[in-house]
Amino acid sequence: MIPELITGAAASAALSGLTAWAVFGPRSRFFGPLVWRGDAAGPPRVALTFDDGPHPESTPRVLDLLARHGARATFFAIGQNAERWPGVVRRIVEEGHTVGNHSWSHAAWAGFRMTAYWEGEIRRTSRALEEVAGTATAWFRPPFAVKQWHMHRAVRRTGHTMITFTRRGMDGLRTTPEKIVARLAGARAGDILALHDGAVPWNPHDNGPTLEALPRLLEALHERGLAVAPMEELIGRAPYVRARAEARKELSRETA
Ligand SMILES: [Zn+2]
Repeated sequence: MIPELITGAAASAALSGLTAWAVFGPRSRFFGPLVWRGDAAGPPRVALTFDDGPHPESTPRVLDLLARHGARATFFAIGQNAERWPGVVRRIVEEGHTVGNHSWSHAAWAGFRMTAYWEGEIRRTSRALEEVAGTATAWFRPPFAVKQWHMHRAVRRTGHTMITFTRRGMDGLRTTPEKIVARLAGARAGDILALHDGAVPWNPHDNGPTLEALPRLLEALHERGLAVAPMEELIGRAPYVRARAEARKELSRETA
């Protein structure tokens, strides 16, 4: 009786551990394919990504810091935020960065939603970004890094690649610049690093620690001989449905 109980408890603990890994693990391909790091070959480089923007104050400051260091990053935007602050999205694209899809609403408990919900979230965001950036998106980052079968199916149906990360700053939670730098500065060639430039629409967030950490992180990576490169160079996949060059040409025609 007791050994059976113990075995049962151990089995259920192992099972819930496995489930947690499958759902939350940034490297988990349990429900479908995803990219969590880039190619380590070639010149040593990493990719920087920013989630939950655009944000009218912190995103422009992130862009200023990146420009000062000649670094190009990927911004996984929330559709609602992109619709609200299209000028910030436009600036991201104009300065040579990439925009990716981070769902329309970044809703809590969305991990339980079905395929149609995820298709809607992804397509609506892609359309909002297309209106501003001139092209539909092809990269999707799951909110909270939570993945499930229906989401994977929607990602496939909408022609997206699911992209997580190798290391994260955990700066979506309350933290300090020192901790953020410590979590990311040990990066290795090919790593995809995750930070936050914005906040989910239903939960305001202080990006101050990220803004303080970013120049220190960029300097630390530089000192270790790691360049910050556009993610498409590391993963060998295009970020947009149409070529970026074509989209930017149109964009400059519109703004001319
Ligand atoms: Zn997010």
